[in-house]
Amino acid sequence: MSDGAARQSDHVVIAGGGMVGLSLALLLDRDLPERVRITVVEGMALPEPTAVSSPYHPSFDARSTALSFSTATLLQELGLWDELLPGLGPIRQIHVSRRGRFGSSCLSAHEQGWDALGWVVENPCLGRTLLAAVRGRPRIELRCPARVSEARADAGGMDVTLDGETVRADLLVIADGAASTLRESLGFFTRRKSYGQQGLIANLAFEQDHQGWAFERFTASGPLALLPLVATAESAHRMALVWTLPPTEAQRLQVADDDSFRRALEDAFGHRLGRITRVGERHSYPLALVEAVEQARRHCVVLGNAAHALHPVAGQGFNLALRDAAALSTHISDAVRRQRSPGDLDALEAYTRSRHEDQAITIGASDGLPGLFMVADPLVSLGRDLALAGLDLFPLLRRQFVHQAAGMAALETARG
Ligand SMILES: Cc1cc2nc3c(=O)[nH]c(=O)nc-3n(C[C@H](O)[C@H](O)[C@H](O)COP(=O)(O)OP(=O)(O)OC[C@H]3O[C@@H](n4cnc5c(N)ncnc54)[C@H](O)[C@@H]3O)c2cc1C
Repeated sequence: MSDGAARQSDHVVIAGGGMVGLSLALLLDRDLPERVRITVVEGMALPEPTAVSSPYHPSFDARSTALSFSTATLLQELGLWDELLPGLGPIRQIHVSRRGRFGSSCLSAHEQGWDALGWVVENPCLGRTLLAAVRGRPRIELRCPARVSEARADAGGMDVTLDGETVRADLLVIADGAASTLRESLGFFTRRKSYGQQGLIANLAFEQDHQGWAFERFTASGPLALLPLVATAESAHRMALVWTLPPTEAQRLQVADDDSFRRALEDAFGHRLGRITRVGERHSYPLALVEAVEQARRHCVVLGNAAHALHPVAGQGFNLALRDAAALSTHISDAVRRQRSPGDLDALEAYTRSRHEDQAITIGASDGLPGLFMVADPLVSLGRDLALAGLDLFPLLRRQFVHQAAGMAALETARG
């Protein structure tokens, strides 16, 4: 169908039904006129609505995700917040420190006049909520489990092959994760930088109540984050750990018995919350920065981890991707309302331009932070300590830092 004539129907296909693919489907369902079909294709089985336990899923696994203010705003707009609320651990204060050094800083929600600096959700809980919402929107077709094996572009759109069948798409959204095979097969150029480290994750319980504290501690081997989780019937005082370690150390601690693991972690973190009383399943992830240098072409756009996979230290990957998804939805809806294709190149280029600054700042911060705190140079060391101490002493500086991390300014800019 050519642009300009009244368009009868359009089809957006999202390859990848992880956190970002499902969120985009919901945003598009809200923003696009009824005549546009939306299909999400997800390669791995997703849990049935009534399932008590879920099969392993790469996006909705044992990790937890810190949600920023901008994400909370978008999830509220989608009507998902109240459902998520019982599973959200509010972050009331953040304690940032370096092991064995004097500099430390405390950021507090109270100081900002906010209820919380962010919220922590376990990925399976987020997955269940997104999935239930997608299943409740009749316009969204969920093909799962089904894999997109190939996509071919021509002047009018894309032929997308899934499980031997070819469907026609006016826009293909590539949201199949950091190791995206679709992005590679279509020749989108990526930059990749390995951090030579692994992120070891586990859910833990401590002797003492966390009272909404999150901890970000920079150690010689890399940053360690502990995020407050809600209590469950089985366990109170729960926290989610993300510990950046050299690969051999991560592998050793992943399989170590609970006591050895507990001792190693207490040694790195200290006893701010007393002893560790419970250690959950441990998993580790190789850490790399993957950036798609080109993110959009006519009828095709790259999103989520496929567009940028970040170091988890600042907890920004999903938050950034959701702001991208909201902006993408706005740009293509505007194009469709002007009788253009959802894959209109001008609209997709306007989208990438609108996201450039937020992506550059967020990626730069999450890339620079872990390295900065591991440099051995004594002058740099002193600078970092003073920076942390300075953050603690100057409320205005702290406020600016928190506003940046909350992503609110970026969300406002994305909306124009
Ligand atoms: C340890 C750790 C902690 C993190 N903590 C935070 C945090 O606190 N806050 C935050 O904002 N971010 C955090 N992140 C980042 C966040 O997890 C990612 O931004 C998010 O998972 C990206 O989601 P995605 O949907 O783009 O990709 P993925 O989660 O990788 O999902 C991709 C999906 O595509 C599917 N797929 C793959 N190939 C195909 C195919 N050919 N056809 C169909 N489907 C396919 C997969 O099955 C999968 O479901 C963290 C990351 C890590 C590793």
